[in-house]
Amino acid sequence: MFKKILIANRGEIALRVQRACREMGIQSVVVYSQADREAKYVKLADEAVCIGPAPSAQSYLNMPAIISTAEVTDAEAIHPGYGFLSENADFAERVERSGFVFIGPTPESIRMMGDKVMAKQTMIKTGVPCVPGSEGALPDDPKEIIRIARSIGYPVIIKAAGGGGGRGMRVVHTEAALIHAVQTTRGEAGAAFGNPAVYMEKFLENPRHVEIQVMADEHKNAVWLGERDCSMQRRHQKIIEEAPAPGIPRRAIERVGDRCATACKKMGYRGAGTFEFLYENGEFYFIEMNTRVQVEHPVTELVTGIDIVQTQIRVAAGEKLPFAQRQIQMRGHAIECRINAEDPYKFTPSPGRITMWHPPGGPGVRVDSHAYTNYMVPPNYDSMIGKVIVHGDTREQALARMRTALSETVVEGIHTNVALHRELMADAKFVEGGTSIHYLEGWLAQRSR
Ligand code: ADP
Repeated sequence: MFKKILIANRGEIALRVQRACREMGIQSVVVYSQADREAKYVKLADEAVCIGPAPSAQSYLNMPAIISTAEVTDAEAIHPGYGFLSENADFAERVERSGFVFIGPTPESIRMMGDKVMAKQTMIKTGVPCVPGSEGALPDDPKEIIRIARSIGYPVIIKAAGGGGGRGMRVVHTEAALIHAVQTTRGEAGAAFGNPAVYMEKFLENPRHVEIQVMADEHKNAVWLGERDCSMQRRHQKIIEEAPAPGIPRRAIERVGDRCATACKKMGYRGAGTFEFLYENGEFYFIEMNTRVQVEHPVTELVTGIDIVQTQIRVAAGEKLPFAQRQIQMRGHAIECRINAEDPYKFTPSPGRITMWHPPGGPGVRVDSHAYTNYMVPPNYDSMIGKVIVHGDTREQALARMRTALSETVVEGIHTNVALHRELMADAKFVEGGTSIHYLEGWLAQRSR
């Protein structure tokens, strides 16, 4: 096992990885920007090194600074967390070339999944169900594009091969709008992602977002750790996640989960990963694969009892997966609410000093957060300041626990979306379960009227 790991991230996930290391008896080095100087996890770390000023480009995205910090601190491996460099194949490659272990998949896997056209072709080849669409990138010939759209049937969605974070997509309802939409998306994709290739898919009108967590080692073992329903989204940003997905037959989940695990074996995938699907009318349709640990991993940890971050570290060190598929049991129900430093009605970011931080507690309540009373939320990064996650025997009990937890949660000095979560936990449709990816936006539009 590693003796020392460098954590190339910040905020709650830096603390999460640090805790995993500490439990395993591994020393951790955190890198931080000047804006994160006073963060508590920086002070708690075995070693902490400032790698640059507040802007991410000069700190958390600064590859030479991170790699040379690993060199001077004698770290053996680098955990990238999520966001920042976690899905950057060039970074993974540079880490490995410099003689360190990248705690994640191989650069080849990251590169393949980062190109959505390649990712989709791989899924089709390995038997994972995909949204009906173009075979690969769209050709230049407008006639051919029109023919493809007709064979798929409108509405269709044009998506950038290099897209991410909900950007580089355009829905087309009529043939008259098709060619212009393809050209515009190509132009934007070229400018934003350096890759003008686009592809076409059937646009699903009212799907749910259901994803499968996988874990694989380099000895050709791969398992799936259940699903998560992440349909509660605003502007493609998830805010509530839960496991299991309410109302979906277990057999259907098991079928798609097994396909994902099989695909991992066929691709030679290593580490943690997530297959994201849209789910509509009883069918799963792959949209993308995330090749890293996700924000919402705790809901899976609570229902499976498996520590995903520690398992990532173990398989990165070359160990075999410590469990087989038949040993993985889902127990009870877990829900996560992402706590963001933002106005709960207008969603404008609300950085600043937290004058009072009182996290909830009690049975089945977990809080993953780096915040504390007197913590200064810097304006430079993502607005998420923590996550409240609850576990119960049933979904009803989990909901009741979340309501109690949110009622105890006090954050003063800045605005947060805790009030929004309190409202949503009482919303009849959410409580019923099975809302689509458009539900939250519709609910918000109605609330503001
Ligand atoms: P990104 O990498 O930018 O997150 P995804 O492929 O995961 O891109 O798509 C992001 C979101 O766009 C999905 O969660 C869904 O809301 C919507 N979306 C993508 N493809 C489709 C589709 N074929 N039909 C309907 N909605 C889609």
